[in-house]
Amino acid sequence: MSKKVIFIGGTSYSGSTLLDMILANDEKGFSLGEVKSYFYPTKKHHINPLCGCGNEDCNIPELINDIKLGNLYSKLFEKYPEIDFIIDSSKSPFWIYKQSKKLQKQGIDVKNVLIWKTPLELAKSFYKRGRGDIWKKKWIEYHKRYFSFIKNYKTVKYKDLVSDSNVLKELCEYLQIPFFIGKYNYWEKTHHTFFGNKSAKMHLYKNYNNKDEVISKIQRSYKFDNDENKQLGEIYYNQVNNPDFDIKVKKQIINDKDEFESIIKTLAENKTNSISPKLNFFGKNSYLVKAEFLLLYGRIYKLYYRK
Ligand SMILES: [Zn+2]
Repeated sequence: MSKKVIFIGGTSYSGSTLLDMILANDEKGFSLGEVKSYFYPTKKHHINPLCGCGNEDCNIPELINDIKLGNLYSKLFEKYPEIDFIIDSSKSPFWIYKQSKKLQKQGIDVKNVLIWKTPLELAKSFYKRGRGDIWKKKWIEYHKRYFSFIKNYKTVKYKDLVSDSNVLKELCEYLQIPFFIGKYNYWEKTHHTFFGNKSAKMHLYKNYNNKDEVISKIQRSYKFDNDENKQLGEIYYNQVNNPDFDIKVKKQIINDKDEFESIIKTLAENKTNSISPKLNFFGKNSYLVKAEFLLLYGRIYKLYYRK
């Protein structure tokens, strides 16, 4: 098997961390999580993080810190010859685009998966975390950027992924990685996943006596409630029926109905080959400038906070 890096794309709260760890749940897989934030931190908890595995003595962050970003994936493959594929769920289309170019030069394969939620599902995830109306802008912008920068990918709908194992099987076929029963139980393996979604990562620490402590060190500010505690070690789809909320979201969408429909159509087509959606994305250049600026900001931030 040739070595490959699998990039996961998706908006915030789309299930990318969950998918990252499910795919990496294989003796030949390795989950890097949102490694971009390790190299280009933008928040305090990105600085000197505790490893995703929760072990204070784990040497993975240090090891990655010693690798130059340009050789990140190739050095990891060199260091761990048993690994055939690395999962990177940094999500940023700009990051995926840039890293893919480097990897192609190094002769390492690249595969892309885009995980997505419907507008209603994503709105629910945003409101649940008190982030409200911004879901709409994020949903539209993210997908247009992704379509503009990434040319070969497979889409997977969050709900289908968590409710139908055939969807995961098909995805593994596309990625040319092994599928097996039990691949969903990602907490049965030690992952060193950087950052990412708290609810998905909680499962990793389900057998820890001090899981509150571990998670608070990793996320710097997190308390989880008893409901979450009960459901550790199980993947479920939370269907919330709230007609008032559905109406509210429908009203938010109505003015941009065409745009939403064309994005959903592109997502749902689930094409595995290059597509050129007829979506006008006028912001490509300004996005590039902004993304480069954010990298610069991250570099300064890191210099400033890291001793
Ligand atoms: Zn670790």
